[in-house]
Amino acid sequence: MATYRKILAAVDLSPEARSVLARACELRDLYGSALYLIHVVEPIVLGGDYDLVPVMPVEIEETLLQRAKDYLGTLVREMNIADVQQSVEVGSVKHEILRFAEEQDCDLIIIGAHGRHGVATLLGSTANAVLHGTKCDVLCVRLGE
Ligand code: AMP
Repeated sequence: MATYRKILAAVDLSPEARSVLARACELRDLYGSALYLIHVVEPIVLGGDYDLVPVMPVEIEETLLQRAKDYLGTLVREMNIADVQQSVEVGSVKHEILRFAEEQDCDLIIIGAHGRHGVATLLGSTANAVLHGTKCDVLCVRLGE
């Protein structure tokens, strides 16, 4: 049986984050793994000139970062989860999840996937991008329609 040493749960700020995190906790308990929790704040593109690198005024970035940190903290507290390393990163969601997983040497990424349309259903855009961008195992938690 495979053993996962380091599990990364990627969550957005929706109520569905609980389903993703709950599954990650089940597997963490099963395998005795370390658990990492990540949320990525995407930069806001100002203006339509794509010669510009996406930028975000410092105050807005700090507000969004703080909001995300508070959300993760509340989630972890309400779900009564101990020993989880919480990280909030700024950048492209796919890129930051993959970067973090590689840097921390995670061997399982757990992510939500909406079941909306046909095969595209199976894997939402983020889940699809993560699955195809990593060598480690990926578990997609089916979320609501
Ligand atoms: P989506 O592609 O928007 O349907 O999101 C599917 C899943 O990707 C979510 O359930 C999360 O597991 C993950 N995800 C989406 N947005 C973020 C984010 N900003 N930070 C971390 N994970 C995310």
